[in-house]
Formats: sequence, C-alpha cells, structure tokens
Amino acid sequence: MDSADLLALDAQHVWHPYAPMPAKVPALLVTEASGVRLKLADGRELVDGMSSWWSAIHGYRHPVLDAALTAQAGRMSHVMFGGLTHEPAITLAKTLADLSPDGLEHVFLCDSGSVSVEVAAKMCLQYQRSRGLPGKRRLLTWRGGYHGDTFTPMSVCDPDGGMHSLWRGILPEQVFVPAPPSGFDTPPDQSYVDLLAAEIERHEDELAAVIVEPVVQGAGGMRFHHPAYLRALRELTEAHDVLLVFDEIATGFGRTGALFAAEHAGVTPDVMCVGKALTGGYLSMAAALCTPEVAAGIARGELPVLAHGPTFMGNPLASAVANASLGLLADGGWRTDVTRLEKGLLDGLAPARDLPAVTDVRVLGGIGVLQLDHPVDLAVATDVVTAHGAWLRPFRDLVYAMPPYVSTDDDLAVITGAMLAVAEKA
Ligand code: PMP
Repeated sequence: MDSADLLALDAQHVWHPYAPMPAKVPALLVTEASGVRLKLADGRELVDGMSSWWSAIHGYRHPVLDAALTAQAGRMSHVMFGGLTHEPAITLAKTLADLSPDGLEHVFLCDSGSVSVEVAAKMCLQYQRSRGLPGKRRLLTWRGGYHGDTFTPMSVCDPDGGMHSLWRGILPEQVFVPAPPSGFDTPPDQSYVDLLAAEIERHEDELAAVIVEPVVQGAGGMRFHHPAYLRALRELTEAHDVLLVFDEIATGFGRTGALFAAEHAGVTPDVMCVGKALTGGYLSMAAALCTPEVAAGIARGELPVLAHGPTFMGNPLASAVANASLGLLADGGWRTDVTRLEKGLLDGLAPARDLPAVTDVRVLGGIGVLQLDHPVDLAVATDVVTAHGAWLRPFRDLVYAMPPYVSTDDDLAVITGAMLAVAEKA
C-alpha cells in the first residue's frame, strides 16, 4: 500500500487524540524513528523536539533498549500479574523505590499515566476511609494543571482551560486554588502561601489529598514555579492531616534537571505518580509509589486490598525496557545532557525576546517554552516547523520543546530555529 492509500485509510478510520473525526489537519506518515530523527514516508527527516510526548528521553532505537526488549520477548512477553510475579517487575519496583525520594517504598504498576493518577486517588480515598474518615474524599489542586484524560485525572485538570470544562457536573467536584506565581527563580510569595494555608484549612475535613505537578505544570500551560511552594504544601498537608500526591509523570526521570522534581524541594510526598519516560518512551507503563504508612492504612480497612488490577499490569516487556532505561540513567550522564539541553534552549531561544508576539521565554532543564500573545494555528505551525526540519506540536498560545536528552547542539539549533519561526509566522 502506498503512502497516499495509507493516509486515506488513516483519515477514514483512525481517530487521533484531541482531533475531530475525520481530522481537519492530516497526520504526517512516519516510517522510521532513529536517534532523534523521525523519517517520513515522503523522504523528509525531522528532528524531534517532542520526545514522543516527553517520553523518548534516550532517543529512538536505542541499542540498549532494543536489546532489552528483544531479549525479554524471547523469554516471556506477558503473564497475568494476579498470583504470579517475575524478575523484570520485581527489579523495576526495587529500582523505583531506590531512586525515588526517601520513604516511597511500595510500587503499584499501571498501564498509563492517567491510570496511575486514578490509582493514586484510590490509594488516598481508601486510606482515609480505612481510618474511619470517609468524608475526606475530595482532592485539592492548583488551577492550570493537567493530570490525564480519564475521569479522576480530568476532575483535577484546569477547570477553566477548555480541556475538560465540558464535563463539569459529571466529574467529581474537587477543590481548586490558584496556581503559584510563575517562575522557577521567582522568590516565593508569602501571601500566596497564606492563601494555600487558608484553603487547605477550610477544606481539611473533606480533603483526602492535595495533588499537584511539582515545579512544572505541563500540558495545562507549561508554567514553572519555585520549589518552596512544594515545601509549604508538605508542611500544610501534614499539619492538616491531608495526603500529598506529586504527579511526576512529565517531570520525572531528569527532565527538570533533577531526577524527580520533588528533589528541588527536598520533599517526599505520600504518593508519587511516574510514567512517560519510565520506559524510555518504548511502551506504555506508569506507576504509583506510596509510603508504608499509606499501604498499612489501606491494609487496616474494611476492604484491605487496593481494588485495582488491570490485565496488562506489570507487563514484562515494558518492565524490561523500563529497567534498561533506568540503567541508562544510572551513571548520571543524563545530568550533563540535560544541562546541555538547558544551555542550547536558552541560547537558541534568546532572540525570541525581541519578537513582538512573544510575551515570555522560559527554560528549565530540558524544557523550552515560548509564550505568544495569540493562539497558534496548528496547521500553519506544523507547516512552519516541518519546513525548518523539526517536529513540534504547539498548543494554544504555547510553542514548546522537550527534546530527547541525546539531542546534539545542532539538533537543538534546528528545534529552537523552528520555534522562533513559529513565533514569527504562525
Ligand atoms: N499527568 C501529567 C503531568 C501528564 O503530563 C500526563 C500526560 N501528558 C498525564 C498525567 C497522563 O499520562 P498518560 O497520557 O500516560 O495517560
């Protein structure tokens, strides 16, 4: 079948994310991905600035990840996890417990980031119920957040941002407070901490947990905040008997310059969600980690088990490739890579400050963002970035990149050049 036939079938049958059916903007047909490059059916090669939605941190077709996957496929691709276990999942859980902030010891493997947020919420609600506090079943979160596309994560996504406002009245009603003032280096604002304190105190009898994206609010707006707000949240949640959940699905595994964003604050949450880069972007797998206190609390309840068990839980292929990906991070070389990304993004995006449409330029670790004064036209932006040899997916008024850690300075120049071009033209 040639490319035109495939694209016609794509338009007829394949429903793409956040797109109407049939799609208005045709998708690009990718035939191969290797290193940081996507090869298109029409022969073009694009430098990937998205890391496949922030997950392919080591690039595509990494020999170590390919080998781990192939070797595992030769042994066992899947077995049910109920009543059975296996080395790849055991090694993965132990490694995650070792790498994550001290105190997070138990690992519940999930099939996607959204599911790990569902599981985290279940952990918190079940924990409170087990303590005889069933009224504590709401979640408090920051406006401007994003936690996934199933119902519980949607209920804590930004309520006004357009993504999920359609579902108001159907989703569980959570408690929203303003997001912290923007800026990783902006000195913390005590009046904002006072506001957080007042809201947590006001709702403490009905709050199971506070859930936030630490340091970077991703798909809700690509905003950064000072780590001191995480320390404030830790103190406030402890003082008011509320659990604290960090959603590290986008920030985890080095993206912000720390292995987990919680490390910028030196804080351990009660529950932490990871996903995306966990498998180096090879397969869908995520995890919800929790402290022994949370697990023991649930075990004392009327239903002493965590009522969750998807068919593909602990998938050995995903576990094996996750182990290989974590193995690549183990020597700490990623720190040098992410520092290089940060410099390349800062240098490459500096000229954007002079562009009339750009209202903000922000860079943290391997994340570079241009905020514009108008929403971009996705079709125009896609033409612009591909004409510059890059792959990016701007949204709303944001043009951003989260390149693979292995991107070279030349790759970063292509990516930032494409971002500037969108800011000039789209
Ligand atoms: N939380 C955060 C912070 C995310 O960025 C995402 C995905 N963009 C999710 C949750 C949902 O993860 P998934 O797409 O794997 O369900």
